Amino acid sequence: MDMPASPVWQEQLFLGSWKSGDGDQINVVEPATGAVISKLKIATAGDVERAATIARDTQTAWAMVPFDQKAEILRKAAALLKERANEINDWNTRECGSVGPKADWELQATYEQAQMAAALPMQPNGEIFPSNMPGKRNYWKRVPIGTVGVIAPWNFPILLAMRSVFPALAMGNAVILKPDPKSSICGGALMAQILSDAGLPEGVFHVLPGGPEVGQALVEHPLVKMISFTGSTAVGRKIGETCGRTLKKAALELGGNNAQVVLEDADLDIASSCGAWGAFLHQGQICMQTGRHLVHTSVAEEYLSRLASRAENLACGNPAQEQVHQGPLINGVQAKRVEDIVNRSVEMGARIVTGGKRHGNYYEPTVITDVTSNMPVFSEEVFGPVAPVMTFDSDSEACELVNESPYGLAAAIHSGSTERALKIANRIQVGMIHINDQTVNNEFQVPFGGMGSSGNSGRFGGPANIEEFTTSQWISVMEEGIQYPF
Ligand code: NAD
Repeated sequence: MDMPASPVWQEQLFLGSWKSGDGDQINVVEPATGAVISKLKIATAGDVERAATIARDTQTAWAMVPFDQKAEILRKAAALLKERANEINDWNTRECGSVGPKADWELQATYEQAQMAAALPMQPNGEIFPSNMPGKRNYWKRVPIGTVGVIAPWNFPILLAMRSVFPALAMGNAVILKPDPKSSICGGALMAQILSDAGLPEGVFHVLPGGPEVGQALVEHPLVKMISFTGSTAVGRKIGETCGRTLKKAALELGGNNAQVVLEDADLDIASSCGAWGAFLHQGQICMQTGRHLVHTSVAEEYLSRLASRAENLACGNPAQEQVHQGPLINGVQAKRVEDIVNRSVEMGARIVTGGKRHGNYYEPTVITDVTSNMPVFSEEVFGPVAPVMTFDSDSEACELVNESPYGLAAAIHSGSTERALKIANRIQVGMIHINDQTVNNEFQVPFGGMGSSGNSGRFGGPANIEEFTTSQWISVMEEGIQYPF
């Protein structure tokens, strides 16, 4: 891809329209090569103030725009996503190390989010409740929250930003998006251009690339009435604390350490294929990644050997130059973190079956066994291409191992008996469970979200979006005025 010589995001911020900002300019580094592929203007706390003020001043008018016009803008945005697919996918690959099919899937998923959001403004937005007072009508309706702050991570930066941005806009809110600086072009600047070109009124949507300081300023700002955050549990906890203190709504979609349970009556060819996909897709940098492979002792050797041979067949390299299954991790810090977790686990007695080596920002698809639950590879969210395998001897033990993790995002259960798998599903504290499939599952019409340390019960998708991005208002009407005792 030829990178544009001097794109607008190098010098300007999208504060409802492109404007100059006071913040620093940083290098955008390609994880696959270490090359500087662009520059990026970073926002400051002062820009949060500017954006919040503009958003407050434009949100009410946006909320009043008729539903069919809102829907038209969102449909146009969806169409532009498809029209600009090559440009967006190229940036996703160069900026984030995504392989082509991952970039394609993410774009299609974002398109679905836009289309689904376009259908929201025409949904019924209230109910009429009875009253015990004669002549009184109780109207109850959904209303916008005001300005919604969206904070997104770098792993699926387009989808995980826009799954909040589109429905929040559809429900009449203004939105300030803070993408991660590692993914702010595809996950921020390009989306600003799309919404602007789709006809979204100026001032309603803002993109403020920046790190924790900008995020904190957004969370603290009194004009921002809700935070929709996707990211790590540690940061989510801090944001939740601030939102509690400032009394704002917080939707927190956090980390995971997801188990795939393989019972002795499972189809091991399918289970190992699901295990490999769930563990190695996008270099394992997915919240729903299969981070714990729990296998019945009697089939563990067979599962391990099938999983290892699938891992060994994966091609790794620069996804911008060759067709590979796996690209680089997002940067050296993440790659070294994965290496450290594996090495510490090996020191504690784990055995590498295949992989286990870092090459710069790349980490080999790794299968590791003799794992115990006190090892970091089992207890921590690795966020890398590592598949730790552990054994169990009974369904109860499998449930205990799944529930041992404080996270509860996704799980998979493989068994020849659906009834047996369903019994296990009913005993585990996990938000999304897939029987005879893998953990990285996302269907946009089905509410998505985790339990425990994976979130605070916010849900994305389908009917959940209406409730998530609105508050409610009760308006009562007395046909004739009423006299009270005094
Ligand atoms: P992160 O928590 O470090 O960062 C996420 C976002 O928060 C970034 O934009 C970052 O700049 C911002 N941020 C960091 N500190 C902040 C602070 N103090 N205040 C406000 N904002 C702050 O997470 P990450 O490393 O970018 O992403 C990986 C994590 O995200 C993993 O734990 C993964 O499981 C999780 N994740 C969850 C989901 C989900 O849907 N549940 C999806 C994808 C990723």
